[in-house]
Amino acid sequence: MVWEERWHPLRREWVVISSHRDRRPWQGEIVSDTAAARVAYDPTCYLCPGNTRVSGHRNPAYTGVFAFDNDHPCVGPLATEPAPFPASVYQNRRANGGSRVVCYSPRHDLSLAELPQASIVTLLAALQDEFRELSSQPEVRHVLMFENKGEVVGVSNPHPHCQIYATNFVFRTIELEAEASATYLADHGRVLFADILDAEAADGRRIIASSGDAVAFVPYFARYAYETFVAPRATHADIAELSPSEISDLAAVLRETLIRMDNLWQMPFPYVMALHQAPVDGADHDGFHFHIEIHTPLRKPGLLKYLAGPEIGGGNFLNDTAPEDKAAELRATSTTHYRSRIIA
Ligand SMILES: [Zn+2]
Ligand SMILES: [Zn+2]
Repeated sequence: MVWEERWHPLRREWVVISSHRDRRPWQGEIVSDTAAARVAYDPTCYLCPGNTRVSGHRNPAYTGVFAFDNDHPCVGPLATEPAPFPASVYQNRRANGGSRVVCYSPRHDLSLAELPQASIVTLLAALQDEFRELSSQPEVRHVLMFENKGEVVGVSNPHPHCQIYATNFVFRTIELEAEASATYLADHGRVLFADILDAEAADGRRIIASSGDAVAFVPYFARYAYETFVAPRATHADIAELSPSEISDLAAVLRETLIRMDNLWQMPFPYVMALHQAPVDGADHDGFHFHIEIHTPLRKPGLLKYLAGPEIGGGNFLNDTAPEDKAAELRATSTTHYRSRIIA
């Protein structure tokens, strides 16, 4: 049992770890594995090769990664000029930027965890290209790449894909991490995330996967159960800076992590996965260390973690699990995906 407060150095806030709360009788929502019968090609899917999207555009008969401008952009070049505002404390501006969708593969039924290593390398390389292109556009100050997976995080289309928002502002979490990293570098002359990696390696209990230049771990200060960071060992500002061999190691560790997550409960593990990259706002971000964060809303199979009084009302997280226990659960799983054993 762990009952203590832990400092989150990247967010600069306290996380309350109280693993005894995990044994409370649960009366919350029950989420089941509702994965419908899976097909390699779905004629009604707007992401499958050859199908027509809502915009009227037809997808090419793509065979690898396929990226296109989001048909429902949250930010984009077609955003309207904002209405003039009466003089007051309020402000507004145009929602300029870029919104992209990246399909991992033509296969409607294969999640990222089920793709072969080579396909994940291809995907990460494609994201490097997307980053270079989007970050070079005027007005873009940050490139957020993320995947929402599973119905519990609101995904309506199961075709494996991620999204990219290239915005004229820096997302708040990234801004916090950039501030924390810059302050730490100025104060200590070291990279904050590199010291986190050292601390995790020295402890070892929360490491989930490790290969060459990349590592995955449940951080000491995890806010969610099974919260996992996947990162290159070396400090880079963004994914575009990784060498081919670093991309290969990152792909291997990411794949192993996602396989372990799916194997944990023998079901597709729902998550929000986000690539945390330094802003491209022209400022110096030497202390920022690119990493991937994976958060699941589930605490147990079928049990959602609700954000309530402490999180929504107060703004700090209360984690009902010990990060060491959750990492041990993931480490105890097989590295062979359970569905590949079913199919084989
Ligand atoms: Zn599809
Ligand atoms: Zn982060």
